[in-house]
Amino acid sequence: MSEIIQAVRGMNDVLPDDSAAWQQLERVARETFADYGYREVRLPLLERTELFKRSIGEFTDIVEKEMYTFEDRGGDSLTLRPEATAGVVRACISNGLLHNQRQKLWCMGPMFRYERPQKGRYRQFHQIDVEALGFPGPDVDAEIILLTARMWRRLRLRGLTLNLNSLGTPESRRDYRARLVAYFQAHLDTLDDDSRRRLDGNPLRILDSKNPAMAAVIAGAPLITDHLDPESAEHFARLRAYLDAAGIAYVVNPRLVRGLDYYSRTVFEWVTTDLGSQDAVCSGGRYDGLVAQLGGDPVPAIGWALGEERIVEIMRVQQLVTTEGQPDVYLVLAGAAAEALGLGLAEQLRDALPGLKVEANCGGGSFKSQMKRADRSGARYAVIVGDDEAARRTAALKSLRDAAGQREVALADLGTELEKVLRPAAA
Ligand code: ATP
Ligand code: MG
Repeated sequence: MSEIIQAVRGMNDVLPDDSAAWQQLERVARETFADYGYREVRLPLLERTELFKRSIGEFTDIVEKEMYTFEDRGGDSLTLRPEATAGVVRACISNGLLHNQRQKLWCMGPMFRYERPQKGRYRQFHQIDVEALGFPGPDVDAEIILLTARMWRRLRLRGLTLNLNSLGTPESRRDYRARLVAYFQAHLDTLDDDSRRRLDGNPLRILDSKNPAMAAVIAGAPLITDHLDPESAEHFARLRAYLDAAGIAYVVNPRLVRGLDYYSRTVFEWVTTDLGSQDAVCSGGRYDGLVAQLGGDPVPAIGWALGEERIVEIMRVQQLVTTEGQPDVYLVLAGAAAEALGLGLAEQLRDALPGLKVEANCGGGSFKSQMKRADRSGARYAVIVGDDEAARRTAALKSLRDAAGQREVALADLGTELEKVLRPAAA
């Protein structure tokens, strides 16, 4: 016997019983994007490694230790995308989408990070991603947050909290950064190894540490919100006013810095209490410097990404998944004459009643075993054709969900009869 080949660690299969939640989430996202005038882009999963190094930053977890990087047969260093923003910006620049134009875009698909797999944290995971390029904000900052809030309402998600912060500009951050380094240097003995390493490269990232032993020293650190430049402070105040006016609750969290280097001014994160420590479900921020950093003309921009696995898990926990996919009708075809008629009859019913879900029995089987399959399929009705019925051009219509018994219906009238029993209001 051949050995079974396992999936790659941290990479999951989404099986038929699970896909309803994914479809529900993605349908709501697509509809909401359309309602707000955001348009889809579909981009490669592979990009040049250089793109991520230059955008995400050398001193980030992603670039330091999480990228799937390899040389292709031509000797180019390529990386499976760990996030979407860099690719979107690359595509906008290389396709000239930002020449005297602004873009409101979305995309969705798999991302790859070599992290330690655990609940809510995988090596292939899926994001839905929104980017607005060419808008200085803060109106668009508020808009993309309102968009997320509307998605949560449409999905009926409960218990999400919006954390909000401003990182100022790179210039104002320099001053804050110096204070922060001085503070952490005074507490060097309490820093863990990761944080000591970050002290030179990216001290703000220390605030992002998830190590509980670091919580106290982080709590005492100077706050970035006390060191914003006047324009960033004004931007932040106006964003908060827009959100207040729209009735969106938020918590100003001065320790929210986000893990990527390219952010400036607005950053935010939606968190949940339903998932334990993997609590971030949707995170984003403004990246006014990134387009120029990647070789485009300077253009301000903002975006967010949500983790589909985490939202799907909340939908499951909160029992929000509307199961769909059971057939309305199961076609039992007992005997050669009935079988010969079966596929054609199923097609005829699908033509007559658009949207009707018909499962025709495939692969034969006794009448009894077909009735069992019909019951297991979850169908509301069985349409039963035996050789006698086939000869009379009739079928037996039987309710599988109550004791109403069965009655014989001419094949020609079957569509009308099904419409009556399945959609009484419409008929
Ligand atoms: P975290 O703090 O949980 O590591 P992050 O700051 O690395 O998240 P982003 O890079 O901002 O996350 O990605 C946006 C969203 O994608 C996150 O809020 C999260 O929901 C999801 N996400 C990130 N990494 C993973 C992963 N390895 N597995 C599953 N979902 C993930
Ligand atoms: Mg992370």
